[in-house]
Amino acid sequence: MPGMGLLTEDPVPPGFTGTRIGVCNLCEAICGIELTLEDGRVTGIRGNDADPLSRGYICPKGVSMADVYDDPDRLRRPIRRVGEGPDATWEEIGWDEALDLVADRLVAVAAEHGGPDAIGVYLGNPNAHSVGFATHGVPFVKALRTRNRFSASTVDQIPHQFVAWQMFGHQLLLPVPDIDRTSFFLVLGANPMASNGSLMTVPDFPQRVRDLKARGGRMVVLDPRRTETAKVATEHHFVRPGSDAVVLLAMLNVVLAEGLATPPAYVDGLDRVAGLVAGFTPEMAEMASGVPAETIRHLTRDFVAADGAAAYGRMGLSTQGFGSVCQWAINVLNLVTGNFDREGGVLFPEPAVDTVGRRIVGPGHHDVWRSRVRQIPEFAGELPAATMREEIETPGDGQIRAMVTIAGNPVLSTPDGVGLARAFEGLDFMVAIDIYLNETTRHADVILPPTSALERDQYDLVFHGFAVRNTARFTPAVFAKPDDARHDWEIFRDLTERVLSRAGVGLKDRLAMKARLAPSPATVVTGLLKTGGSTTMKALRKSPEGVDLGPLRPTMPERLQTGDKRIDLAPELVVADLDRVRAAFESAPVPADGELLLIGRRHKQDCNSWLHNTSRLTKGRPRHHLLMHPDDLASRGIETGAFVRVSSRVGAVEVEVTGVDDMMPGVVSLPHGYGHQVEGTRLSHASTVAGVSINDLTDPERLDVSGNAALNGVPVTVQPL
Ligand code: SF4
Repeated sequence: MPGMGLLTEDPVPPGFTGTRIGVCNLCEAICGIELTLEDGRVTGIRGNDADPLSRGYICPKGVSMADVYDDPDRLRRPIRRVGEGPDATWEEIGWDEALDLVADRLVAVAAEHGGPDAIGVYLGNPNAHSVGFATHGVPFVKALRTRNRFSASTVDQIPHQFVAWQMFGHQLLLPVPDIDRTSFFLVLGANPMASNGSLMTVPDFPQRVRDLKARGGRMVVLDPRRTETAKVATEHHFVRPGSDAVVLLAMLNVVLAEGLATPPAYVDGLDRVAGLVAGFTPEMAEMASGVPAETIRHLTRDFVAADGAAAYGRMGLSTQGFGSVCQWAINVLNLVTGNFDREGGVLFPEPAVDTVGRRIVGPGHHDVWRSRVRQIPEFAGELPAATMREEIETPGDGQIRAMVTIAGNPVLSTPDGVGLARAFEGLDFMVAIDIYLNETTRHADVILPPTSALERDQYDLVFHGFAVRNTARFTPAVFAKPDDARHDWEIFRDLTERVLSRAGVGLKDRLAMKARLAPSPATVVTGLLKTGGSTTMKALRKSPEGVDLGPLRPTMPERLQTGDKRIDLAPELVVADLDRVRAAFESAPVPADGELLLIGRRHKQDCNSWLHNTSRLTKGRPRHHLLMHPDDLASRGIETGAFVRVSSRVGAVEVEVTGVDDMMPGVVSLPHGYGHQVEGTRLSHASTVAGVSINDLTDPERLDVSGNAALNGVPVTVQPL
């Protein structure tokens, strides 16, 4: 409970002793936390038992919220790079000087190089977790008027959005497994025991799985690695990386060939789907994936027979060559087996701020423009992050000559990171809005650091919309903002005003934007909650642990955003990709010259490419090793612990290897977000997470039809050193 009679909306005063309710916004699980403070310092963080969604759960990362606040590496004032190359140094400058400099240079580069497309923007994952970005960052990016917009979404979840836009009429209308009531949870390429869910906000996943099994339900996992989730599943099957699409198509084949389909009345195109999947037999799928045909048949029949079943696929499915086909097939499987929009199947959350129904986020669009060099269509206003390097380096009209990165580290998180770092070095100007000096921001000319999470108000405008239960929560800042600090929304507001003014935008438009960006995020959210009607800011301030708005419930077809309130089971842009799937798997895959397939992995102590300067999360056994099946090690004469050279079409890295039979033979794994190189910060000191970046091996040429990078299933060779 909030301590010492202090109003919960007041930041704690200096020297405060007591407890405060907060929120962890590091990942999509959005756990409620309770902080213990002594003399103004956080001495403990625990899960908030009263939180109606997270119910007292936190993972090891939650405790590190205080480490970020206290981190000596965290930037607190703007810095400017002085000098070039290895001799460059950084100096602190004032906010006004920094903001003027950034606005001057961005506008000048656009003027010198043919217009706003000369500015590129990259948005990292933490933006989705900041209400200030949603309310003020989005208008800032729009004010730059560039078509060269990139984000972490195209190395992550764009296939889900691409498919939802075509089937349900809105890119964010994503069905969520009803894990608390399902009796058959089918998981492909996801590891919620480590992540606590993604596009399925499911804090305390471990307990929810225990509950599922206790009520007689099953969780079946298909994954090329026996992951932490696979280890607690009732059943796990290895599947060759990149072939999940064929397994799912074969499941559809079984449903339709055996007359088991029971789709809702509001779908069209069932016969077309039956024709499309006719050739994808379980036998073909076995050849492509390694999953036995009989296993595919019995899983399908059990899924159909279950009293509430939910199929779910995440990173391993989205970040591969057929990510959109996978997400489409999962939706169709849930639909045709009668598990769509039903208790125990998949359902659509009803958040207190309905970003979908209110069109706060647009429904999506495709191919309104294309990338300049490779002619890849945009989706929802974004180009693939995998095209960023070529758009910077290739001369011609529309070439990117300045970059704005916001809370992102694409040098570690997007394909061919080494090449991207080189491209950043060649820019005329770069600004990073970020709290850390890292492998990307070190190439910037100016870094503008916003306040950290414990110093900001938070209302989650994104992840309540993907949560397994309808709840709402507003969390006021725990700590006051220091006098010389700026919130992210203040930086976006001040930069937008300066850019518009220097770009010669008319007074009337500038005043309109000024009025739009003047209210704080809390004020904006207060207004948005009024449009929903399910709760109010007043109620949320009274209950900082959050309010429970009830379990998920059927809402279809009323909530469909398609014009006719119907679902097309065979959207053209996805089914057109089936020929490519067929061509890839017509014959059994034969690895060339002893090639192996590389996949990524996550650990519950990791948060993408950051938090590695938090000693609390970098203790213990090293976890940066290449994982490889013992038979693959033996056939190459390699011992566990040896250094090996891993090579792909794009590059090569040297790293220690560990043999584990958790890996499917023929598959190797490196963690995502490793390979830190910034000297002088604690990033370079943590031996448990040293190692290499998997994205020095991933290939920007390998894309899904949605534009998402195919980070998994990369062909590599492994040689002893
Ligand atoms: S699962 Fe961990 S990182 Fe994610 S919100 Fe909860 S405490 Fe934070």
